[in-house]
Amino acid sequence: MLRSVRILGQKVDVVIVEDLEVTTGSVTSGANGAYSNTHNLIELDKGQSPERMRVTLMHECLHALLDAGGIDDLLNAHHDDLDEQVVGRLAPLMFSWLRENPTALAYLKGGD
Ligand SMILES: [Zn+2]
Repeated sequence: MLRSVRILGQKVDVVIVEDLEVTTGSVTSGANGAYSNTHNLIELDKGQSPERMRVTLMHECLHALLDAGGIDDLLNAHHDDLDEQVVGRLAPLMFSWLRENPTALAYLKGGD
């Protein structure tokens, strides 16, 4: 299983946890994943299918990328929690694109 990802050269650890809970404001609820920029950590809930966990990893990586680029702040200044909506829609699209375009991915990585 994947143990870390890199976000703009920074190592972000990836861990699988049981019964992941996320606190938003005063509300704590179950979640499939969470990203912490203060701990450079992505947590994935164990109770999801392997395929769902991959999409969740993509989702949390997008949160990390938006955070690294300051895009989450731009979005949330426009509308509270807009980053969640953008990431929620973009993650399955990115996941699908990555799966469907291995040749394009190899090209982006510097291949022919
Ligand atoms: Zn999210």
